[in-house]
Amino acid sequence: MDAPVETARAKGSFSLGAWFGAVGKKVILYSIASRTDGLRPECVLMSLRILGLLVAAGFVTAHAPGQTPAPGHIDPFPVLDRTAEAMGVDQLGCISFSGTGYAGMVGQNIEQSSDWPLGEPLDDYSRTIDFERRTSVERFRRKPVLNPASWKYGSGWLGGTPLQQREQQTFAVAGSDAWYVDGIDGTPVAAPEVADLWQLDIWMTPHGFVKAARMPGAETTAIWRWELGESGRDGATTSNIQKVIVVSATVLDKYRVNATVREGNIVQRTQTRVPHPVLGDMNYEHEFTSWQQVGDGIIFPAGWHKHDGWDDERQVPLITGGHNSFGGNFPDITANDCTPLAVPDVVRQAPPADHFVETSKLAEGVWLLGGGSHNSVAVEFAGYVAIIEAPLNERRSLAVIDKVVELVPDKPIRFLVNTHDHYDHLGGLRTYLHIGATIVTHQRNRLFYESELLNYVPRTLEPDMVSLYPPTEISEGYTMEDVDEKYILGDGERFLEIYYVQGLGIHVEGMLMAYLPGERIVIEADLYDPGLLPDDIPRPTETEHAFYNNVIQNGLSPALVAPIHGEAVPWERFLEETKQDR
Ligand SMILES: [Zn+2]
Ligand SMILES: [Zn+2]
Repeated sequence: MDAPVETARAKGSFSLGAWFGAVGKKVILYSIASRTDGLRPECVLMSLRILGLLVAAGFVTAHAPGQTPAPGHIDPFPVLDRTAEAMGVDQLGCISFSGTGYAGMVGQNIEQSSDWPLGEPLDDYSRTIDFERRTSVERFRRKPVLNPASWKYGSGWLGGTPLQQREQQTFAVAGSDAWYVDGIDGTPVAAPEVADLWQLDIWMTPHGFVKAARMPGAETTAIWRWELGESGRDGATTSNIQKVIVVSATVLDKYRVNATVREGNIVQRTQTRVPHPVLGDMNYEHEFTSWQQVGDGIIFPAGWHKHDGWDDERQVPLITGGHNSFGGNFPDITANDCTPLAVPDVVRQAPPADHFVETSKLAEGVWLLGGGSHNSVAVEFAGYVAIIEAPLNERRSLAVIDKVVELVPDKPIRFLVNTHDHYDHLGGLRTYLHIGATIVTHQRNRLFYESELLNYVPRTLEPDMVSLYPPTEISEGYTMEDVDEKYILGDGERFLEIYYVQGLGIHVEGMLMAYLPGERIVIEADLYDPGLLPDDIPRPTETEHAFYNNVIQNGLSPALVAPIHGEAVPWERFLEETKQDR
């Protein structure tokens, strides 16, 4: 097996990294000059001609020789050349593979300390990646109705609604266009918010990375280190210490991707950070195993494993234990036999994603702020406004806040009631804290929120308000109020009662719901989504039943249900739709 580590620089070697870059030409001339000391000018000229031919033919690549790598660093280009040779990178234009995959539901844990819950299996999973056309398409079959139609796997439980209706699912990216299709002949739906991430996945495959690291502007570097084995459940394992090289390159002008090159010059792991509304600069990594010969000197991994978040079994210093987000075994691999992927017209012509806020007045001084997949509810008090739920992300939250300021111009948004700690309901908490609100949440969430969400750790990939304009309150303000069983906000006239949803048992721990006794409005998230479930689902569901029980046990008599997903409906309609006893 080839030694993967070469700490001494290969002097005078060439790589394509800088060829098209600003310094490319100068560097090559300089290299030639430095290698041809003592040769006659015509020899130099001949060398230049030969080099030109070789470069044109793709045989020789050029980087910046003569620059001594910084201490601790090594020349990345010989490493890339060896990995390209070992994996057959230059021969590979596109790849297709299939098998069975698994899907981790990022941010949907019942309790924060556990791994991402495993979703329905991805049956008949297949994927085609075309490195030349910058496209990737994934197809699989999955049980309907249990996931948002927009959700592939891992991060991106964005929508909540609408739910996946058909078994066959397609998720595709071509350049900066991304889309998904529910069903075999469903209408493609543009997914601009994930295009960047899905494109990044192409360049985080082993072959994609080597191609990307040799592109102009990649600012490729490399270091070496001794890598210990992974930590087991009970302690460290150190039996398989290996010297590895980590090659680092900037991908898509934004992501600094690190690739671990191991024995045999194989890219075994790629890692970067991606912006996430809850976790900030979130760890994002792929691991590759079970390499197979696929012809033409190309090898490709059949074993895929992906992490969203750190694989932190020990949970120090983090609270969230989520990491495994996707993977599987895809042993059926074919190289260089792909049909081009066309971007559907509806996707190409789709307007840019916008956070449209639609307001409906539920009572005097009470509004449902909808227009998207998740609602918020604003309640006006004598001296302040309270808002229930800060879903999705900062953009959505700022749009909602602007609307609330239109409705109630001169009162501070003093409280943000957070129903539960699922990430699609959390993405705006930092925004509300920044605008001056105290977060009211179940006591179970305090440690997680304080240590990972409501803190000063800068978010560098997509800086938010807290990162850009850090408020003093995070360290010394009234940022959070814990609810155990019941908490009341009021002004002497109007009251907002906040209840812990007891006996839920599924979905999440620490769920809250809210009630306005004067207006007889109950506000809930994910317990009942009006009109969302198909007719063949037995009713009431467990969450609907728990919702009903909690309303009755607390002696509430609602006239209206204001949900976080869907439109407000009369309590009678809830009883009818969910077939509850009266
Ligand atoms: Zn939820
Ligand atoms: Zn939800």
